[in-house]
Amino acid sequence: MTDKFTGSFTQQEPIPEDGIQAALKVLRHGRLHRYNVAEGEAGETALLECEFAAMTGAKYALAVASGGYAIACALRAVGVVCADEVLSNAFTLAPVPGAIASLGAVPVFVGVDHSLTIDLSDLKDKIKTSKARVLLLSHMRGHICDMDALMEICDAASVLVIEDCAHTMGARWNGVVSGRHGVMAAYSTQTYKHMNSGEGGLLICDDAALMARAVMLSGSYMLYDRHLAGPPAEAYTDLRYDVPNISGRMDNLRAAILRPQLKALDQQISAWNARYRIVESGLRGTAGLTLIERPDVEKFVGSSIQFLLLDWQTGKIEDVLQRCRARGVELKWFGRDEPSGFTSRYDSWRYAPAQSLPQSDRVLKSILDMRLPLTFTLEDCAQIAAIIRNEVGVVYQT
Ligand SMILES: *Cc1c(COP(=O)(O)O)cnc(C)c1O
Repeated sequence: MTDKFTGSFTQQEPIPEDGIQAALKVLRHGRLHRYNVAEGEAGETALLECEFAAMTGAKYALAVASGGYAIACALRAVGVVCADEVLSNAFTLAPVPGAIASLGAVPVFVGVDHSLTIDLSDLKDKIKTSKARVLLLSHMRGHICDMDALMEICDAASVLVIEDCAHTMGARWNGVVSGRHGVMAAYSTQTYKHMNSGEGGLLICDDAALMARAVMLSGSYMLYDRHLAGPPAEAYTDLRYDVPNISGRMDNLRAAILRPQLKALDQQISAWNARYRIVESGLRGTAGLTLIERPDVEKFVGSSIQFLLLDWQTGKIEDVLQRCRARGVELKWFGRDEPSGFTSRYDSWRYAPAQSLPQSDRVLKSILDMRLPLTFTLEDCAQIAAIIRNEVGVVYQT
């Protein structure tokens, strides 16, 4: 096994050939806008929505411009307004609190536990001590909390749950598709997620009135009857004059690229999980390194892997990062004092009121994170794990 890994952690697979062909077809006819359809034509966007609704088992689906837009749209649809408090994860990515802030609403952060999921006892506390009536639950890096316990807590307190499934598209908890516990769920089809259209998002929901609001919000004008996976026309009667158009539609070009990818999603998930399990088993038993054990009832998508260097000194973690980087392995660290790249945490989002979560800080400080793009082979994954194991071992002993 060589000393240095030479693959790219940000290189995704190409768009599948049938996606490229479908995209060319749209480019050739020129009808890219979702409502620009020929006589008798449904349009790629409407068809994608139908297929996504079928895949998730949701009654309704809506395709939009991004995952962040889908989240903000869901928050608006359930009635969050300026100055409302909204509960959300302390461990997530910046577009999540950003979506809350885009409404002028106020994020209230809930801590993260050692399984990298939301801390349910902190959730109970925050439900009591805040005025929030909505939880924006982010399944950050694909880790799903005990959804049955979470829903029990939220239902008992009449807190609505919106799920951010940017990292759980295709995942399940106890047999239930991720995104089917809450009242609405948002997905992203941005390049680094589970399907790639550059940018894009999807929203699902079973409630006709809420989905009618979301469709109008997304910029449907009075063309909502072209949404084949939307609620029936009567759902719009009472709200079509009251819901503002906050444009954020998906277009037919992106939808064309996504439809073949949706068909291949299960296959992709198997490929990700094979890679994940190789890295996981390569790291298992490394002194000083804590793996995140995945519950049996969690059918996850291993598109990235995390591990903890709990209570390590900052300098030593920096040392591990640097040594791994020198051998071509890019680890992201959520514990750095200054946010960099994609990693930031609740204390970096200073538009939100300052909050203190000391138990979460201990976890956040220790989280190392690595993408597993499908351009990596299984051998690549074994090599990467061996490099990390080796470098963590060297630094641990100093
Ligand atoms: C990527 C991401 C989003 C937002 O998706 P975009 O399509 O980039 O707007 C939301 N939540 C999480 C956890 C993400 O990783």
